[in-house]
Amino acid sequence: MTYVVTDNCIACKYTDCVEVCPVDCFYEGENMLVIHPDECIDCGVCEPECPVDAIRPDTEPDMEQWVEFNRKYSEQWPVIVTKKDALPDADEMDGKPEKMKLFSEAAGEGG
Ligand code: SF4
Ligand code: SF4
Repeated sequence: MTYVVTDNCIACKYTDCVEVCPVDCFYEGENMLVIHPDECIDCGVCEPECPVDAIRPDTEPDMEQWVEFNRKYSEQWPVIVTKKDALPDADEMDGKPEKMKLFSEAAGEGG
């Protein structure tokens, strides 16, 4: 099992989570983070640290797509181990629908 970052991280990226991870398995993209599913040791300490509840255990329903998403991008993005400032509109963007669209735009993958 692993924990994964889901879409409410998009455009928030508070990065509180990276400070607590004992194995440094968070990876940083343009507007969100992901967890490497093979490196995560399922300790669970990051989950309550996320201010927007974006980190979920893969034991919850319908998490398979997020495991694959986290795996894909953790293999492409650089590791992040220290906290940095959240994105400028983070508070405003919390809970906004259609965040995947923002992700696709930032990733240059079209709408
Ligand atoms: S704390 Fe939550 S919103 Fe912030 S970077 Fe980590 S997963 Fe994303
Ligand atoms: S569950 Fe533990 S090992 Fe996995 S990402 Fe969170 S802090 Fe890191």
